[in-house]
Amino acid sequence: MSERVCQEVQAQLPAYVDRSLSRLRRKLVALHLRRCAVCQAAFSVQRDLRAGLASLAAQGEAPPDGLLESLLAQSSSPRGAAPLRGAVSGARPALSVALLVAGAAAGAGAGYASWLSAKNVRRRLRR
Ligand SMILES: [Zn+2]
Repeated sequence: MSERVCQEVQAQLPAYVDRSLSRLRRKLVALHLRRCAVCQAAFSVQRDLRAGLASLAAQGEAPPDGLLESLLAQSSSPRGAAPLRGAVSGARPALSVALLVAGAAAGAGAGYASWLSAKNVRRRLRR
């Protein structure tokens, strides 16, 4: 899968999640998502982020620290990985990766959105 296609698909994911894409573009994104684990994972995160952002806006919560670390720990912990290990090496790796990422993001979707904005702030402060 070419990186350029993935970049274009991922750039359209917010509109795809919002269902504001044209029918043709929506179909192209859907087709690509079916074949590409990377974009499928990005789609899951995007979808969960959208829900997370909505609840953050409603609650006005402060962004938690170390969120990426906890997401990574969740996705690489023996407890989380064991049931998926067989599936990952099986016939549908794209689906397994998507489930793995969706599982991690679903637990911390709201926090991940905060972490993203916190990361942007930190990057600005460093320069
Ligand atoms: Zn892709």
